[in-house]
Amino acid sequence: MSRSAWGLVIVRLLAAVGVAVAAGLVFGQPELWVIGVLAGYLAWNLYHVYRLDRWLRLREGTRPRKAIGVWGQIYAEFHRIRQLNRDRKKRLNRLLKEFRKSTSALPDASVVLNAKNEITWRNDVAQRFLGIAKKDRGQKIDLLLRDPDFIEYLRRKQFDRPLSLRSPVDSRIKLTIRIIPYGTGQQLLLAKDVTREARLEKIRKDFAGNASHELRSPLTVISGYLDNLEADPEKPDSWKEPIREMVVQSARMRSLIEDLLTLSRLEASSSATNDEPVDVRGLACLVRKDALAAGPREGAVELKLESEAAIRGAETELYSAFWNLVQNAVKYSAPEGVIEIRWWDDDDGGYFSVKDTGAGIPESALPRLTERFYRVHKGRDRARGGTGLGLAIVKHVLQRHDASLEVTSELGKGSLFTCHFPRSRLVE
Ligand code: ADP
Repeated sequence: MSRSAWGLVIVRLLAAVGVAVAAGLVFGQPELWVIGVLAGYLAWNLYHVYRLDRWLRLREGTRPRKAIGVWGQIYAEFHRIRQLNRDRKKRLNRLLKEFRKSTSALPDASVVLNAKNEITWRNDVAQRFLGIAKKDRGQKIDLLLRDPDFIEYLRRKQFDRPLSLRSPVDSRIKLTIRIIPYGTGQQLLLAKDVTREARLEKIRKDFAGNASHELRSPLTVISGYLDNLEADPEKPDSWKEPIREMVVQSARMRSLIEDLLTLSRLEASSSATNDEPVDVRGLACLVRKDALAAGPREGAVELKLESEAAIRGAETELYSAFWNLVQNAVKYSAPEGVIEIRWWDDDDGGYFSVKDTGAGIPESALPRLTERFYRVHKGRDRARGGTGLGLAIVKHVLQRHDASLEVTSELGKGSLFTCHFPRSRLVE
């Protein structure tokens, strides 16, 4: 409201009071005239307040009635604000409709959850994949999806990794669930059908596993005959070298096949099958003994066992991971190098580390180390007897124990491989 309009109101009021005083002077009793004028002014204002109130409450969408003076402007201002709000509401409604249409067209199930994990919205696919119907609005999602893995996923709130789940509606449908937090405590749950991808992945894994298995028996026969031939003192001299080479290569093929079989066994299930407390101190002593047996390193493999904690998991898998790390430390350092095996824990969990003073790894190679058949120096590393599968096995074993692998290295100085197990996996 402009200042001039208010000035006019005051001037008009003063003029009316002036007229009342003048009339009072002419006809007598000026105070009655003034009171009369003021009462009239008050009644007029009250009438407009009443009209404004009724218009605001009852006549949504109608134009305001005409009024003179400042009341006319007040009505116009209210009308303008109402109009603005209505336009905004229309725009938001249109946007909401478009959002709903587009998410309904999505092939993925989408569910919006509030901070208490209650369903506030879902699309039609959510009914097909997750069995969440329209009437389930306001229900807590963990009462509808009761899979223990899902409940744990929701509780932990570590949504950087998706969760694999079978559809509660049809167990043949495999889903990957992602939860994306947004706003103030809201979450968007997306479930994608990955049945086809999972089937192809299974065919690929089965093929690698079956092929390795089929190769193992003939190779055992060939290795047996080669060992016999090597041991035969009457073989011609010209055969000695080729037979020795064949023995070495068949041993390499055997370790390749064993590693491939280990990997396909690890891939067959996503978490460690065994949940027994594994004595890490005992395992560390064992891998040290095996490392010393593999080469002349007496005293060069140090043990630092600073924790009494055990790990809940599968002993054979953990042995295989730790042995691969120690074996690499031996393989990629000079015989006079020092290797340190350490086990310690803190508030964040347990740490099993293997440190060497060997060749080191260039920084650019670090992100690719756990890829299958990745070797930093192809020819040289193969000649050392590596299969290129060791760290892939380590990664799989650690994943199955909710653990992670951290690698730091400096070229020419050595490397440090640390397996970090979460507190939840430790047993005192
Ligand atoms: P491999 O059986 O060939 O050793 P891994 O998967 O165990 O395969 O290791 C992958 C590659 O990482 C190796 O070929 C090697 O180049 C490098 N590497 C692994 N451990 C070490 C280490 N302790 N020091 C230097 N390089 C290493």
